[in-house]
Amino acid sequence: MTRAGDTLPAVARLLLIEDDLTIRAPLVRALRERGHAVAAASTAMTGLRDALDDRPDLVVLDLGLPDLDGRELLRMLRAVSAVPVIVATARDDEREIVRVLDAGADDYVVKPFTAAQLDARVRAVLRRGPGGQPEDPTVVVGGLRIDPRSRQVDLDGEPVELTPREFDLLRHLATRVGEVVTKRELLTEVWQIPYGGADKTVDVHLSWLRRKLGESAQRPRYLHTVRGVGVRLVTPEVDG
Ligand code: CA
Repeated sequence: MTRAGDTLPAVARLLLIEDDLTIRAPLVRALRERGHAVAAASTAMTGLRDALDDRPDLVVLDLGLPDLDGRELLRMLRAVSAVPVIVATARDDEREIVRVLDAGADDYVVKPFTAAQLDARVRAVLRRGPGGQPEDPTVVVGGLRIDPRSRQVDLDGEPVELTPREFDLLRHLATRVGEVVTKRELLTEVWQIPYGGADKTVDVHLSWLRRKLGESAQRPRYLHTVRGVGVRLVTPEVDG
């Protein structure tokens, strides 16, 4: 089970294979600032060579590379290496994502993604350990069970039907149980709107999510709004 505050033992050595310098340079910088050792390659072929020669702990692979399709590269890499791979795809296309996961990717991010999001995925993939059994990522908060693999949510043993956005919102809050998460962060991480998004968007989805969890802003149980700051997912207090 995953809990907030899990830490990784050592500095992770990452290899970023990305041809677009405007993405690569800031991402390398941001990942280094987050404590990773980062090497970068701008073509599939140099990336493959570096992955084999330098044996990084994890590879972040852009699918749209100039010399070879990223999926081809993934297959070639998988034939010779078990290094964890996170794929960066420009397409938020379910079939595409299923294809790369089937081809051996450990996780994926959809462009445009933030460094914070990629860093979270990197840490989650590395926590599973090399070739180890994946840790159960299910998060339990009171009677709420959130399983990111099946994207299934149960409340007191009963399944709750959520839209993909509602699920992502709840899952993000579940990574920070007990902490106030700002609407700005939710817009960035869940909606991937870095600037100038409307707080109303978050409010509306929160109210839908609340309704499905059988609560309201006036009578919150799991989702508590902190006025002017954000929202917090908590274990509800049991009535005496
Ligand atoms: Ca590209």
